Amino acid sequence: MTLVESPKPSSVRRRRLVTEAVRAGIATDPVHGAVVPPTVLSSNFTFKRFGEKRRFDYARSGNPTRALLEETLARLEGGAGGVCVASGMAAATLVTQWLGPNRRVVAQHDIYGGCHRLFVTLKARGVLDVDFVDFTDELAWRRAIADGCALVWLETPSNPLLRVVDIAQIAETAHAAGAKVVVDNTFLSPANQQPIALGADLVVHSTTKSINGHSDVVGGAVIAADAEDAEALDWWCNCLGLSQSPADCAQITRGLRTLHARWRLHEENARAVAQLLEEHPAVARVHYPGLPSSPYHALATRQQSGYGAIVSCELVCTPALPGEDAVAALCEELQLFSLAESLGGVESLIAHPATMTHLSMTPEARAEAGIGESLVRLSVGIEATDDLLADLRRALDAVAERARPRARAAFAG
Ligand SMILES: *Cc1c(COP(=O)(O)O)cnc(C)c1O
Repeated sequence: MTLVESPKPSSVRRRRLVTEAVRAGIATDPVHGAVVPPTVLSSNFTFKRFGEKRRFDYARSGNPTRALLEETLARLEGGAGGVCVASGMAAATLVTQWLGPNRRVVAQHDIYGGCHRLFVTLKARGVLDVDFVDFTDELAWRRAIADGCALVWLETPSNPLLRVVDIAQIAETAHAAGAKVVVDNTFLSPANQQPIALGADLVVHSTTKSINGHSDVVGGAVIAADAEDAEALDWWCNCLGLSQSPADCAQITRGLRTLHARWRLHEENARAVAQLLEEHPAVARVHYPGLPSSPYHALATRQQSGYGAIVSCELVCTPALPGEDAVAALCEELQLFSLAESLGGVESLIAHPATMTHLSMTPEARAEAGIGESLVRLSVGIEATDDLLADLRRALDAVAERARPRARAAFAG
């Protein structure tokens, strides 16, 4: 495996991907000429004649509406095939079942909380041998892979600290050691990052997030670089019954049509938000690879074709307003960032990882991953930029005001 020279799609290929996302299945209905492909809800399909089945027989194993989404996602990610499942966690489950028992997994230590919980639980049950490693520490990950493993699980940029790791370099090392590489590409979507071009074997998505983009479906997908892996994943998906319903697939396909257009606006807003946060006195530290001050800026610029919609920051803590209180104050003040889990939808959200998305991690694991009490994660939506900035500025000013040392008047007498 050689290092890929240009991980980013050429402008011609990128243009083609945008068009493919918009036009997936358009005007292919042979019966009515429907512009948008009809959603096929049928759970079963007739045989052509005795002993001769059609492409589909039973909807758990496959159906036209899911197949369209799977084929489109596989094309956008540059894979040989894909499987759409009921959630992002179903996608992670599918990969662990496909992998088989008693295999060693080396996983990034700051992955999505639910994936972390899955791995910890499977390890505690003796199903998988999992080691969590800081992949920003080159010595540590090289040693962990050299110890022997079947699978390397990456998530870059990571959640919620937006750490970026070098997919091509890690994939080359993992392949030399006989391991397969999975990248959870939920944070950037294929619009901003193509892990398979960088050497990944599998790409995992929570399509709940940016791919659907409208916060109204839960879904997941696994895309494989290799046709044999894609087929095996499809077999396991059917065997385990993890497949996604046609109605949900139709809705996700609709969301996917606007992915690239939405993503341009998300990014424009996220950059502006990151800049504002970096300049505001109520903010101690900003995590966004798009900022030139980020330690991951150079790698992200090389590896990604954009910086995404997620910005995290740590608030300034004072004795008058310690970490969690500062976060609570900010959430109360904000009007255009709703306090909710999830990310990548058109609406702006704010989350507090320590008490929300990453609550299932032990306090020790959170501390090790660098997820402190004053950390907040913003999923920046596509509202008008100036509205978002005004809302943030006003709320942060209010937090700064409350963080000031209390008046000494009380002690005066
Ligand atoms: C949300 C998320 C998941 C899990 O997906 P669900 O659809 O909620 O099951 C996995 N990885 C990342 C990075 C996520 O953000």
